[in-house]
Amino acid sequence: MSENRMEKINRFTRRPLKEEEVYCFPVILCDNEIDRDCEKFSLNALKKLAELFIGKTGIFNHDPKGENQTARIYHTEVCSDPARKTLDGEAYHYLRAEAYMVRTDSNKDLIREIDGGIKKEVSVGCSVAKEICSICGKDRKTGECAHRKGRVYNGKRCFYILEQPTDAFEWSFVAVPAQKNAGVTKKYSEKTEEKSLGGENVFEALCDDLKRDILRLSFLSGDGIPVKLTKAALMRMEPEELLEMKRALSDSEYSKEEGELEKALKKTKETEANNSFRI
Ligand SMILES: [Zn+2]
Repeated sequence: MSENRMEKINRFTRRPLKEEEVYCFPVILCDNEIDRDCEKFSLNALKKLAELFIGKTGIFNHDPKGENQTARIYHTEVCSDPARKTLDGEAYHYLRAEAYMVRTDSNKDLIREIDGGIKKEVSVGCSVAKEICSICGKDRKTGECAHRKGRVYNGKRCFYILEQPTDAFEWSFVAVPAQKNAGVTKKYSEKTEEKSLGGENVFEALCDDLKRDILRLSFLSGDGIPVKLTKAALMRMEPEELLEMKRALSDSEYSKEEGELEKALKKTKETEANNSFRI
């Protein structure tokens, strides 16, 4: 199996490298979850990105001396997490990549950090041909529609689905995206592979599940609260409060009959929103 890995790596090297000369690590580049910009990649987009990111260089510019370290992606795959659903109810998928670095004296510390499970923002840059409106299905790249991402229309929040990636640029472990004007630039938290599942981790995993359920329910209920605010609130909640919130949201799902006045108000608001968009 490691021979297979070295074959893949050596496609990108000037001379064939030996296994002990390289350091390999996994990284999650992106997923099909709706992100803080109210955008998400479709599953097909992730599959296309998997092809496009092969051979792409990543940069770690955390070094205070300004010396950038680089790694290259030699393998990618789209993985799924059957236990998890996205905010809009799709099966959760993510693009996992494997990258290598040639071991040198100057990247010893960095390798130790990665081994220690550093958590940094991973940002990827790519361009897409289509941005589909989740409300009406129109492609926002070729024409406009009356909906704006992040707004709620008839109890449904609008988001854009990013389709047909045409190019992938660099990926990096930085806070500032490398390609500001290159189309879509997204940031994700790096998730390092789970090593063991002890008691505490099981509890944490349960709390994470709860938080995801709450996010999904809150999002679907069209309560108008921005996802990032809900997320920030959830981070500070105790497990009991999480349970209570989930119950409250589940209950309101069944008793969600809007009054006429509320509906009329909503309509006026939407018309206003649409008008202001057309200016
Ligand atoms: Zn639309």
